[in-house]
Amino acid sequence: MPTYDVLIVGAGLAGLNCARELHRHGVSCKVIEASDGVGGRVRTDEVDGFLLDRGFQVLLTAYPEAQRVLDYDALDLRSFYDGALVRFDGAFHRVADPLREPLAAPSTVFSPVGTLGDKLRTLKLRQAVRSPDLAALWARDEITTRQALTERYGFSDTMVRRFFEPFLGGILLDPDLGASSRAFEFYFRMFTEGDTAVPARGMQQIPEQLAAGLEDHTIQLNTRVQRVAPGTVTLETGAEVEASAVVVATDGPELAYLLDGFDPPASRSVLCLYYAADEAPTDDPVLVLDGEGGGLVNNLVVMSNVSPHYAPPGKALVSVSVIGNPTQSDAEVETSVRAHLRRWYPAAGAWQHLKTYRILHAQPSQAPPALSPPERSAKLSDGLYLAGDHRTNASINGALVSGRRAAEAVLADLGVPV
Ligand SMILES: Cc1cc2nc3c(=O)[nH]c(=O)nc-3n(C[C@H](O)[C@H](O)[C@H](O)COP(=O)(O)OP(=O)(O)OC[C@H]3O[C@@H](n4cnc5c(N)ncnc54)[C@H](O)[C@@H]3O)c2cc1C
Repeated sequence: MPTYDVLIVGAGLAGLNCARELHRHGVSCKVIEASDGVGGRVRTDEVDGFLLDRGFQVLLTAYPEAQRVLDYDALDLRSFYDGALVRFDGAFHRVADPLREPLAAPSTVFSPVGTLGDKLRTLKLRQAVRSPDLAALWARDEITTRQALTERYGFSDTMVRRFFEPFLGGILLDPDLGASSRAFEFYFRMFTEGDTAVPARGMQQIPEQLAAGLEDHTIQLNTRVQRVAPGTVTLETGAEVEASAVVVATDGPELAYLLDGFDPPASRSVLCLYYAADEAPTDDPVLVLDGEGGGLVNNLVVMSNVSPHYAPPGKALVSVSVIGNPTQSDAEVETSVRAHLRRWYPAAGAWQHLKTYRILHAQPSQAPPALSPPERSAKLSDGLYLAGDHRTNASINGALVSGRRAAEAVLADLGVPV
């Protein structure tokens, strides 16, 4: 391998944004990636004409770093409805942000998802997360999300149970709502400031766009790194590669494997099941939440209602999320999920199960004090730097920020003005 200024381990969003930033400043780098493609946890498979994101996830268009580095028009973003359908007591109940979906305001005000007081509290929450600048928002006292909802904002138990547990539980992959209030308030601000979207042709378009901005041959796929040290990377083959700087941009558990002295962060897990249906069970691109709890299904969305490219003509693609890592086998989970879905939509009995993704490390745990401070240092020692969502927060934005910060730390040490 020829010599580069910087070696980056991992072509997830953090590693790619690090490479992009170095490239912008004329610093050569090589990204070494163990798997067969770019994107890390943001990948999409094509199966029988369906686009299956490896786990249901969305881009919040208000993410500041994503706005900085991504070309949204080229991604051809398709937006979700600004609200949700919540299932309880045998029916679906619509809730929406009345400021963003004014037509839904009456049904939201009268929906039994929460009390009238809860609806007013939602407006108060909206105001509270939007008024300070982002730095001040991240500096607020860190408590759990559940404490923030009940003690800081005063929501009723019913509202927390029916709406926030499945909604935020699906984002934080933590239906117990033990994750940091800092993460919750940041995501909530992002939801209110922009759209919830996916690229028309799948989430992997995001890392593909970042990779396309790099010079050819910057990324080396199918190459696992075995060990890292300041200025040196040892490949699985035993070969050693040297550079002025090494940036480790893997997930947290892999970092703990590659480097001594790091405890792996606890992982939040999720299963995503995909079904093909002859007819979509809902008409709009809306998130459907389980407001009853106790079952495996947390949320469902018809991805082909969000973007028709997700399914071949005449078919619908249904994505179902199960939070956690149940002890049952994938086949047993599928049986339970289907039984659950049949109570919601009788036609679900005929849906074709396409695939189940069981993602053990979907996000690092963000239980307090995980985000105190909200950003951890990008420089470990001379010649060794860290990126990845475990340095910031578990989001597309957090991963992108961590990559840029690592690049900035490298550039500073190389004497390159930023
Ligand atoms: C199912 C799911 C749903 C999510 N939902 C959302 C959402 O809706 N919105 C949101 O903003 N965020 C969401 N996230 C979080 C977001 O996707 C992640 O925070 C982000 O993608 C992490 O990027 P990263 O670059 O830090 O790490 P990763 O994507 O994990 O990238 C690390 C890369 O390093 C490579 N690597 C690991 N070990 C080695 C090695 N030894 N040698 C070489 N390469 C190696 C890996 O193959 C991988 O490509 C979700 C994540 C998942 C999984």
